[in-house]
Amino acid sequence: METVADFFGSQVFDDRVMKATLSSEVYRSLRKTIDEGQALDLRVANAVASAMKDWAVQRGATHYTHWFQPLTGITAEKHDSFISPSPDGGVIMEFSGKELIKGEPDASSFPSGGLRATFEARGYTAWDPTSYAFLKGKTLCIPTAFCSYGGEALDKKTPLLRSMEALNKQALRIIRLFGNTAVKCVKTSVGPEQEYFLIDGEMYRQRRDLVFTGRTLFGAKPPKGQEMDDHYFGVIKPRVEAYMEDLNQELWKLGVLAKTEHNEVAPAQHELAPIYTTTNIATDHNQLTMEIMQKVAARHGLVCLLHEKPFAGVNGSGKHNNWSLITDTGVNLLSPGETPYENAQFLLFLCAVLKAVDDYQDLLRISVATAGNDHRLGANEAPPAVVSVFLGDELSAILEAIETGAPYNAAEKTQMKLGVNVLPKFTRDTTDRNRTSPFAFTGNKFEFRMLGSSNSIACANIMLNAAVAESLKIYADRLEGAEDFETALHEMIRKTIKDHKRIIFNGNGYDGAWIQEATEKRGLLNYRTTADCIPHLLDRKNVEMLTSHKVFSEAELKSRCEITLDNYCKAIVIEANTMVEMARCEIAPAVESYIKELAKTAALKKSVSGEVSVTYESALMKKLSLLAGQIFHAADELEAALRTAGQHRNVVEESAEIRDTLLGKMDGLRAPCDEAEIWTAKAYWPFPTYGDLLFGVR
Ligand code: ADP
Ligand code: MG
Repeated sequence: METVADFFGSQVFDDRVMKATLSSEVYRSLRKTIDEGQALDLRVANAVASAMKDWAVQRGATHYTHWFQPLTGITAEKHDSFISPSPDGGVIMEFSGKELIKGEPDASSFPSGGLRATFEARGYTAWDPTSYAFLKGKTLCIPTAFCSYGGEALDKKTPLLRSMEALNKQALRIIRLFGNTAVKCVKTSVGPEQEYFLIDGEMYRQRRDLVFTGRTLFGAKPPKGQEMDDHYFGVIKPRVEAYMEDLNQELWKLGVLAKTEHNEVAPAQHELAPIYTTTNIATDHNQLTMEIMQKVAARHGLVCLLHEKPFAGVNGSGKHNNWSLITDTGVNLLSPGETPYENAQFLLFLCAVLKAVDDYQDLLRISVATAGNDHRLGANEAPPAVVSVFLGDELSAILEAIETGAPYNAAEKTQMKLGVNVLPKFTRDTTDRNRTSPFAFTGNKFEFRMLGSSNSIACANIMLNAAVAESLKIYADRLEGAEDFETALHEMIRKTIKDHKRIIFNGNGYDGAWIQEATEKRGLLNYRTTADCIPHLLDRKNVEMLTSHKVFSEAELKSRCEITLDNYCKAIVIEANTMVEMARCEIAPAVESYIKELAKTAALKKSVSGEVSVTYESALMKKLSLLAGQIFHAADELEAALRTAGQHRNVVEESAEIRDTLLGKMDGLRAPCDEAEIWTAKAYWPFPTYGDLLFGVR
């Protein structure tokens, strides 16, 4: 029988294939490009392209595409076939090094936030050799970056690669200070846990809100939701199991390390986690995973919802970005070491993260901001919009001991040992897992939990990498010039703890009292909506930091600010329009039909047994008529608010207007509609209810 090991990565032009199909000289030179970023000469590129093409064509491929990640949030591809005419009237399959390295999609319709003048609208894609090419159906997909001719990034991969480079550079400086000359590079690793909902495809198609916006805009609370906690880690239903099995196979063929799957808290909610890998590849793989999740769902008559909040009243979906720093020699820099010296280095990297998260809370919040994610962050759901770091009791106690200079008395398992002056030796923290923290240290990695389920993980990692690079740069600048390294190191760690301990919070992040303490006592930021936080991308300190590490240019930041706010506005305007249409053309008519039915029944009853017998119908008709009137009125109000919002010329104003008035009007229309659902006979309701959707897959 064929095992997973036999077909894992069978659709990937990976290292095994490269070794087998390239001459050793070409292979070595390509490896140098992949591992050390060395430029590739055209001769090597031609050889690689030819081998890739042969490999792909043997597996039935007819086309190739430069696969890239524009600022729309999804991936883009334009297919070109390999065919080239031969003189005898036939064709041969061709693919050159030039075509591999550079592509010119006509990409003028992708958002550029004003970066690209129309005369240079085309932009170009450039091969990213650090992420393997793969086969999707009959197309060879080549992971690429997407830039304008002026060199500005028009995608998410370019700044991600730049942020990894910035972090590598600063981390190496620190490592050298600790006397390590063997390490050649430091990369960040990420394992993103992906949540999603699965619902029945037939039901999905009956709901225009799901079709147009990915989430339900109406729906009364069902009698049963997630209160029994009987879904989390529960037995997986056969239809879902078949789906997961199929999904795993597809992902494994594509070299995605799909590892863990389980039911999540909400009914119909599930999670998939891969084994972690280099951030750049993890990002490509996560994009691919989201795409394949949806494709495989269709094969099973299901729909995979990746929206952050498909259903009001039950948990939304997020993505946990498990992040760490790993050297090419295989050392995790966020793993507490065995010796005091290693521990000192670990503490320094830990402090760099603390400082980064505190100094750039706003950038982290911005990196996960979308209209969909606003329903989770800042809306009584995990985690809050306030960024804080969970360290656990043991590590917190150690930091406190360092800060105050007091002796560190911990449980038996840890002992205080003075190595580099006063840094204690300690074992890995095994305290309880805090599930409510936006940014939690989990033993040897940080878990950033604010990402929305549909977010590309690129944005969060760009900001995280850049902010940590900045902390490390400040440390390296100081330490490189220090007279006594150990004293300076100790002082710096102590100072970081003192200056940034406000960001450490080990308690319950859902607690209202925490939000109050965080904002009032600790002065932490609380940007509840996308409209609140995005303009701060252009705050001086953020622009200076991001441009100094060459992660973004100022023009790129302006364009990203513009595009993100524009997306926010568009997403909500589409939702509002969908609501008006559904309320007017589906819900109100359904309520009216039921009223008509009641009236008919009442008339019939009255003719048989008089007025008393129709109290039920009368009362219900009155209630429903009232609700129908409210629906009519609220739809008009929402429509008027839409018109006003549309009149703003700039997106900052428009997004503020949407946040301040439009969202309220949407709630105003939803309320009478959901109420009407409760009083209208099921047979009259125009689309599947929450109960149908959440419990409809068996
Ligand atoms: P959980 O957080 O659900 O308890 P794990 O801690 O086992 O589960 O892992 C969750 C995710 O974190 C997985 O995708 C795993 O591969 C990833 N992960 C584990 N170690 C690291 C690391 N050092 N760096 C980045 N991601 C990691
Ligand atoms: Mg986790």
